[in-house]
Amino acid sequence: SDNLYDLFESRFPADLSSPFIETGDGRIHSYADLREVSGRYARLLTDLGVRKGDRVAVQVEKSPEAIFLYLACVRAGAAYLPLNTAYTKAEVAYFVGDAEPTVVVCRPESEAVAMEVASKAGVAHVLTLGQADDGSLPERARGLDGDYPTVPATADDLAAILYTSGTTGRSKGAMMSHRNLGSNALALHRIWGWRAGDTLLHALPIFHTHGLFVATNCVLLNGSSMLFLPKFDLDQVVALLPRATVFMGVPTFYTRLLSDPRLTPDLCRTMRLFISGSAPLLADTHREFQERTGHPILERYGMTETGMNTSNPLDGDRVPGTVGFPLPDVELRVVDEKTGEPLGTDEIGIIEVKGPNVFGGYWRMPEKTKSEFRADGFFITGDVGKIDGRGYVHIVGRAKDLIISGGFNVYPKEVESVIDAIDGVVESAVVGVPHPDFGEAVVAVVMRRPGRDDLTPERVAAVCKEELANYKTPKRIFFIDELPRNAMGKVQKNLLRDEHKGLFA
Ligand code: ATP
Ligand code: MG
Repeated sequence: SDNLYDLFESRFPADLSSPFIETGDGRIHSYADLREVSGRYARLLTDLGVRKGDRVAVQVEKSPEAIFLYLACVRAGAAYLPLNTAYTKAEVAYFVGDAEPTVVVCRPESEAVAMEVASKAGVAHVLTLGQADDGSLPERARGLDGDYPTVPATADDLAAILYTSGTTGRSKGAMMSHRNLGSNALALHRIWGWRAGDTLLHALPIFHTHGLFVATNCVLLNGSSMLFLPKFDLDQVVALLPRATVFMGVPTFYTRLLSDPRLTPDLCRTMRLFISGSAPLLADTHREFQERTGHPILERYGMTETGMNTSNPLDGDRVPGTVGFPLPDVELRVVDEKTGEPLGTDEIGIIEVKGPNVFGGYWRMPEKTKSEFRADGFFITGDVGKIDGRGYVHIVGRAKDLIISGGFNVYPKEVESVIDAIDGVVESAVVGVPHPDFGEAVVAVVMRRPGRDDLTPERVAAVCKEELANYKTPKRIFFIDELPRNAMGKVQKNLLRDEHKGLFA
């Protein structure tokens, strides 16, 4: 059948005792374990009444068992629905009420809260899963037969519902089919040149498409192993890099690595590929990393709703500040925001994509789904960008972050690039805030390098004035120690806008 698990199983190593996951503390789970444990979990879910298309909502800490649970849901024909571990009770209540899962799986210490949330939403079963193979899920599954017949699925059947990061508003549940996940994993596995014996160092969260699908599914298709850390920990990453060949990170992982003197070419001697995504990688970070290690980071671009859309090449120029080319089976175009007409080389507009990777719609939001698709099937990403003369895609920001000041469009990225290039600046974020005359005013929030208190707002303003048209120059400039970021390292511009919204009132 087209069940995603069948695809993975067809790629399992001949020797099932080969490792699939090795944890930071040295516990090894083989492919045989994967099959057995996911089979037992799937049987438990089935015994509890989980049927095809049912949702299983999961808010647990990162562990190998959580990966087995993901695969168990896929095998049982259910939709795996992971939730950010940082979500509060009220947030979880919203998601559970929205998704109406058959089973909720939570951390052992959150059982009482989860029961309350579940009973309000009419959810029949609550199971717990801890980080040490503890909790009622592994306990109740322990005696069950792991030889589970995977439920046949068609390519269009639902495999997962993944909630978007909520960077621009309330998170939306993206319905991902077996085809969406399988096609994207196959494309990435191919273009990133996965080979026998590749070992991934996995330090990402697994409630998000990056750590769950991009990272884990590539390893599964490769039939090889990953070194699996509960989270990004600099010491642990430094300790394990010499055993890895592939690393995937959000940009903050790379800036944290760069801040550590132990990052040397020798530390990376076994490494084949460093990949970055989920948020823009500063061109500076790319260059510094290459200078320090010899490795040009491969940046790619994707989103919850689509999986990955573009990637810099494995062989060929990985151009800093770009996200590379559309994946082989992805059509990508840049269109005029108002007319929807395709734009030419280097013209900035909205990025739209179409392909087997693109989701079927937002969970229980038919109107929202409809408004995000064009009549010809292209999905409107909401990202603003351009395609250059060599075919490289550039992301210049999000449509929602676009600033209209005095009737002129200001792309925050353009202003940020000017500020970021100033000596003494680490990074900046440019937002629009309400202004009585201009509609919106440009405001810059700037992170200085440590010890560079000599850099003044006047200096930043002077550089902007010299390099940018007047309507683009920030009306106010603030310094900040750290830009606010979420778990995926995305700058939370909504918080900055909120903080400064009264400036010109
Ligand atoms: P929400 O849709 O709820 O507002 P979100 O868009 O941040 O949140 P995700 O699906 O996790 O949720 O993130 C996808 C977005 O991340 C993309 O639309 C894009 O804006 C950004 N992104 C991902 N990779 C890159 C990249 N390499 N460069 C720039 N932006 C990127
Ligand atoms: Mg989004």
